[in-house]
Amino acid sequence: MEYSSAEILRGVQEKHLLDDGVSVEDVANRTHNYFNQRGELQIPVLDEKRAAEEGRPEYPNGKEFAVCLTHDVDHICPQALKPQIRQLRTTVSNLVDNEARSSLVKSCLRQLYAFSRAAMSSGESASETVSGIDAIRDVERKYNAPSTFFVPPEHSLVESRLDPHISYSTCIEYDGETRPFTEVMKELLKEGVEIGLHPSLGTYRDSSALRTQRERLETVIGSSIESVRHHRLQYDIQSTPSVQAQAGFKYDSSLGIKGDNGFRFGTSYPWKLYDWTDTDTSDVLEIPLVLDEGFLKPGRGGISDATYMSYVDHFIREVKAVSGTLTLLWHPSFFDDGGRVALYESVLERLAEAGAWFTTIGQLGAWWNENVQSPS
Ligand SMILES: [Zn+2]
Repeated sequence: MEYSSAEILRGVQEKHLLDDGVSVEDVANRTHNYFNQRGELQIPVLDEKRAAEEGRPEYPNGKEFAVCLTHDVDHICPQALKPQIRQLRTTVSNLVDNEARSSLVKSCLRQLYAFSRAAMSSGESASETVSGIDAIRDVERKYNAPSTFFVPPEHSLVESRLDPHISYSTCIEYDGETRPFTEVMKELLKEGVEIGLHPSLGTYRDSSALRTQRERLETVIGSSIESVRHHRLQYDIQSTPSVQAQAGFKYDSSLGIKGDNGFRFGTSYPWKLYDWTDTDTSDVLEIPLVLDEGFLKPGRGGISDATYMSYVDHFIREVKAVSGTLTLLWHPSFFDDGGRVALYESVLERLAEAGAWFTTIGQLGAWWNENVQSPS
């Protein structure tokens, strides 16, 4: 089936997939993606036409394309507990997937998860706790690059082993000091870094829970939150734009290919989402995710650093050719063992050489709304 640009940006193709019974989780995988099936997932095929209709963006200071560095903070936990927690999660996952179905076993599993969450939240003994946030910011400061950290709530909507787990009081190393994560978030804000929300599973269709999670984090950091990326990119094109608007968000960056790469909606440009619940354009601007580091991980592709860099080069070429925006995701947990910092530095070096405007999701969104006409 063929779709027009306007239909694609309204999400008609994803709506049809959902109508056909594809789950919201599977819609975020490349298998069902319209552009993947046409061999065009890694090309922003809509952008020349959109540039002609809406105007070609010209970025501040003559920069040739925009880059949003983003980080989903899925876990913060004491370093010493990590091996045990990993082992526990693997064991429990195997049980759930292969054998356990009885209510008794499920009850035991819930208790085990409660234990692991409590253990993670007990990370007050500072010297034991590290976080990739420190390593990430060390690199970004060298390139004068702000970024967006998407932070989960402390309490999930539903108890799920797949949800992020975090305590804002956990102490982590940051900039040569050990301090509670709450203080680190305030420090990040002072540096021009954006804090967005990484809401828990189920909130993609629950505006009240989404608003509560946003307001709680706002209170903790003492600043407003405008941007959101859903955990595991859990998103329903038919309802989530409306849910996010009702919850008070201005910008979303959930529409990428989960753990993978490509232009899920055929475009590198931000666009105003369509609200299917009142059949009108939503106020929420989408800034699509293009490149998730997930496929560097063993078991999820396990590509080499050199192959990842070839993807970076490819997306720089494609996005720069249309003066588009390139949004990258690097999870802080990816840096926990100290590895991959050199790779992240190489990526930023390459982006800077190519003339990138490093900006945050919120800054880019505000700039886009102000300077580039949105489709009607
Ligand atoms: Zn996540």
